[in-house]
Amino acid sequence: MKDIECPNCGASYPPEETRCPYCGYINPEGAEAKYMDQLDEKRRDLDKVDDTARAGYHQEMKKGSGTALKIVIITALIIAALVGIWSMAENRIFDHKRDDYAEELVWEHSRFEEYDQMFEAGRYEDLIAAMAEDSEKHDVWNWEHYDEFMEIADGLWGNEE
Ligand SMILES: [Zn+2]
Repeated sequence: MKDIECPNCGASYPPEETRCPYCGYINPEGAEAKYMDQLDEKRRDLDKVDDTARAGYHQEMKKGSGTALKIVIITALIIAALVGIWSMAENRIFDHKRDDYAEELVWEHSRFEEYDQMFEAGRYEDLIAAMAEDSEKHDVWNWEHYDEFMEIADGLWGNEE
């Protein structure tokens, strides 16, 4: 580029200078060019910062969503495990209760027949002894003649005191 001539002191200098190197008089064209250069540089810096920030943000988001996904998966697994354990336990308890109940019905079916026989034969002392012993483990009051027999027992032994 052609040198320019300072309008103040008449010296010539390169046009990209913002001021005359000899007298310091401002060179508007050089100043404007430098200002535009600086503006461009700033803009590029801003873009760079923006890109960096955006990249960082995306990385954070990715990291964040990865962690969130992990938490969701782990939580789901824990819930599934708990539900599985719970339903297994419940099934076992239920099976156990059902088995116990079935066993009890079988027991009652045969034992209450013996009660009937003792009751019909008037063997009340044997009957009350059997019931006293059985009542520790069984619901002897399920026997169909229970109330009836209790009244008889009351009449026999209830008023002895
Ligand atoms: Zn000058």
